[in-house]
Amino acid sequence: MNRTSLFLSAGILGLMVLGVLFGMGIQQKKEDPVPDEKKMKLLKDLTQEEKRVILQRGTERPYTGKYYQHREEGTYTCKRCGLPLYRSKDKFDSGCGWPSFDDEIPAAVKRTPDPDGIRTEITCSYCGAHLGHVFAGEGLTEKNIRHCVNSISMDFVPAGEPLARNRAYFAGGCFWGVEYHLQKREGVLDVRSGYMGGEVPDPSYRQVSSGNTGHAETVEVIYDPRTVRYEDLAKLFFEIHDFSQLNRQGPDVGEQYRSEIFTTDDRQQQMARRLIEQLKDQGYDVKTRLTPAGPFYPAEDYHQDYYFKKGGAPYCHRYRKIFK
Ligand SMILES: [Zn+2]
Repeated sequence: MNRTSLFLSAGILGLMVLGVLFGMGIQQKKEDPVPDEKKMKLLKDLTQEEKRVILQRGTERPYTGKYYQHREEGTYTCKRCGLPLYRSKDKFDSGCGWPSFDDEIPAAVKRTPDPDGIRTEITCSYCGAHLGHVFAGEGLTEKNIRHCVNSISMDFVPAGEPLARNRAYFAGGCFWGVEYHLQKREGVLDVRSGYMGGEVPDPSYRQVSSGNTGHAETVEVIYDPRTVRYEDLAKLFFEIHDFSQLNRQGPDVGEQYRSEIFTTDDRQQQMARRLIEQLKDQGYDVKTRLTPAGPFYPAEDYHQDYYFKKGGAPYCHRYRKIFK
């Protein structure tokens, strides 16, 4: 090997090493956000059997669960964190021995392939409680989906009774500022910054910032509907950002900074629509989109509680009273 080819080989090797390092940087997996105190306070203490199923991904015996043959109208909630997971109207009798649903409440359930590569595990998207598995293509209902859920992973709230927990999703520019204002509201139990409304699963901040994934910087609000109404949260959202700007918020420009409300049920959607009409009647040019919620992907840990960790106040979100 002469000197020129030696240099060439070393150069190529160097480029390969750089390429691998750079590639690792791009593909670096987001770490799970550090469990914070607010979240831990919301989680219920579990019995030994609940721990076996919910934390250790166990399975209750078929035909034995409390909700297997349960027919009442209402909402099934997560045993550990209390957030809504399924509605009774989506429950059906699959004959499998566990409660079965052919749809979920938007953004409530996270899917993860099992290590064996065969089944897909379902967990609570907020607290990570193991629920069961989801199957597609069995032809049991029109939607062709079966969420096979352990009864012990759930509680039940009958129709007409108030939920103790619910979630709301707002996108209005840089999520640090939206999160800052919403989490100060009484009745708000937790907030998380993340991404919603795009096509790429579990995107990184860098991917979303490119403006090509379709996601909006979105804040997830976990609240107690008995203390604060959805209407109050939605009004606050309009009062802390400039909803007349299209695909930007002050200095932040791009589709990822758009104004959008993602709703998890008809009631939220009707309320948000009513407020938008009210603002238009008051003479405002409203650019806020209204869309059913899709999967919510929490942002990297360093984005969470940004202003509370860093100190100071948001540069782009200030409260101003709009609703009379
Ligand atoms: Zn949960």
